[in-house]
Amino acid sequence: MSLGEFDLIARWFTRPVRRAVLGVGDDCALLAPAPGMQLAVSSDMLVEGRHFLSTLPPSRLGHKALAVNLSDLAACGARPLAFTLALALPRVDEAFLEGFAQGLWALAEAHDIELVGGDTTAGPLNICITVFGEIPAGQALLRSGAQPGDELWVSGTLGDARLALEAFRGTVALDGAAFETARRAMELPQPRVALGLALRGTASSAIDLSDGLVGDLGHVLARSGVGAQLVLDRLPRSALLAAQPMALQHACLLAGGDDYELLFTAPATARRAVRDAAAQAGVAVTPIGQITAEAGLHVVDEAGLAVDLSAHRAFDHFRA
Ligand code: ADP
Ligand code: MG
Repeated sequence: MSLGEFDLIARWFTRPVRRAVLGVGDDCALLAPAPGMQLAVSSDMLVEGRHFLSTLPPSRLGHKALAVNLSDLAACGARPLAFTLALALPRVDEAFLEGFAQGLWALAEAHDIELVGGDTTAGPLNICITVFGEIPAGQALLRSGAQPGDELWVSGTLGDARLALEAFRGTVALDGAAFETARRAMELPQPRVALGLALRGTASSAIDLSDGLVGDLGHVLARSGVGAQLVLDRLPRSALLAAQPMALQHACLLAGGDDYELLFTAPATARRAVRDAAAQAGVAVTPIGQITAEAGLHVVDEAGLAVDLSAHRAFDHFRA
């Protein structure tokens, strides 16, 4: 690499640490979790073409690479502490690195998380971040805690990122302003860290939505050994998505990925506490169904009648 691996690290990825004992520059970083805290650790890798399109501006790539990792901490109710960054770069492109670092540091500062180390190599563009967070021992929100009778909630709105992807693919036509709105949802997800923290002690289970509601809910149901009833009409959607054909709405809501909202469960008696947590975090939450003792996922309408998902042509279309 022309600029040199170490110059590159020094210029874009080295900043003083405050909470970590030791940051970038030695063989290991040193973290000092407070007594009584457990360390929450998660990694997410982003590969061009698979996880992001080449049209993604570098600053948004920097944001998204960290955002998807912070979203995992949020889902566990962990407070962000530190992260490492492993980067493969085809070449030292200063404009790219400048933009990438700007997006990355802006989100890192917003969540008070420190970059403490990483690895840098030449190769096809690939970004792997590992985040470290802390949680009081035993208080992590897990996928395995959903109980029959619990209510099912979701934060924010769903489906806009998928709508943007379809617009990029050319299967959906959006006008300029609509496309920008959808594109922001896909490229600049906001990790729900404050909500995850506020839901500690209230939510019985949680997961962040990265692969689509039905698939991710399936993980919670499997880990918890329960089923769920989901009310299709209650799924929260933006005005933009609500203006699309119903089959497309349903496909984006149920199977769209990249939402990075929190899906969580809580006992019906905790409804007030859930609302308080959401207000404290400044995030909208919507009850979308119920956990059942009987296994399986049933999608129903407001009257409780089963919705035949095969009626929505868009599903087959997306599966291709
Ligand atoms: P080692 O040879 O021990 O793996 P390196 O020479 O790869 O260490 O890296 C030197 C230092 O720079 C280490 O502290 C490492 O954590 C850090 N580092 C390397 N790449 C990055 C990066 N992309 N972002 C932040 N820190 C990095
Ligand atoms: Mg190394």
